[in-house]
Amino acid sequence: LLPVGAFIAAFIVGIVYWLSKKRLSPLGELTLAVQNREFIVHYQPIVALKTHICVGAEALVRWRRPDGSIVRPDLFIPLAEESGLILPITDQVIQAVVSDLGKLLVADRGLHIAINLSVSDLKTGRFLSVIENALDHTGIHNEQIWLEVTERGLMDIESARETITAARARGHMVAIDDFGTGYSSLQYLQGLPLDALKIDKTFIDTVGRDTATSSVTPHIIDMAKTLSLVAVAEGVKTKEQADSLAALGVAFGQGWFFARPLPLEEFIAFYHQSKHQ
Ligand code: C2E
Ligand code: CA
Ligand code: CA
Ligand code: CA
Repeated sequence: LLPVGAFIAAFIVGIVYWLSKKRLSPLGELTLAVQNREFIVHYQPIVALKTHICVGAEALVRWRRPDGSIVRPDLFIPLAEESGLILPITDQVIQAVVSDLGKLLVADRGLHIAINLSVSDLKTGRFLSVIENALDHTGIHNEQIWLEVTERGLMDIESARETITAARARGHMVAIDDFGTGYSSLQYLQGLPLDALKIDKTFIDTVGRDTATSSVTPHIIDMAKTLSLVAVAEGVKTKEQADSLAALGVAFGQGWFFARPLPLEEFIAFYHQSKHQ
């Protein structure tokens, strides 16, 4: 009997070993990551261009794998969007923002956090109740949660309009992201109720330089003013850019000149330092 038992035991050990070595598909891995809540958020400061005081942050998702390595969103967001896993990932981002920064948001009513939304987020509108539940009893105001939507998210204009209208009715601020990179930005601007416009870094790159696009940037800024949209410059990399943008009347800026996306503790340190500079 003993040899048979040993044989069965060896067989089981072999199967377990084989299963542990077998590679999951990328979708299988991402599904597991969602189940195990492996998503964390880094915060890129958004500052007032006149004072360089931190007025907010953009929440940027990272996948922290069990071995501690960090995966950038460009590598998993497309699969997450295709598969529908983006919905539970958005949930985890919202919940992380509230547990990471709840105290700071209550202490500073002027502080806001911007959350990125995907096409399916806008289609389903599910994030609205997730935010409502996450903010419940925290004392955080809806006005402090901004939502960033890209033109891709606005393609299905009717469901986008409905969701954006509902979000604004609750007090959230809605920003159009990567403005100027799509093909019909102006059309979207006309037809949608929006609060803020994030000028894409391709336009910021040209500020202060003598190129064809650099003559476009001031017009984008003027248009934001005409439409009463708060302008946010993305990808600010130099002091010269920051100064020119402030002179052109852009309220807020974000980019490596001020800070990269930061892990929570570093963001909180940056925030306090900017207030007491
Ligand atoms: P995005 O929304 O346009 O976010 C800004 C990206 O620009 C970030 O890349 C940020 O690290 C990078 N960036 C910031 N300042 C500078 C700069 O001065 N120079 C340059 N070259 N880059 C700068 P990141 O964090 O890798 O995110 C990439 C994209 O992934 C985001 O682009 C956004 O579309 C998507 N994403 C990130 N987090 C989320 C999320 O929670 N949900 C969804 N749906 N999408 C997300
Ligand atoms: Ca964004
Ligand atoms: Ca952007
Ligand atoms: Ca982008």
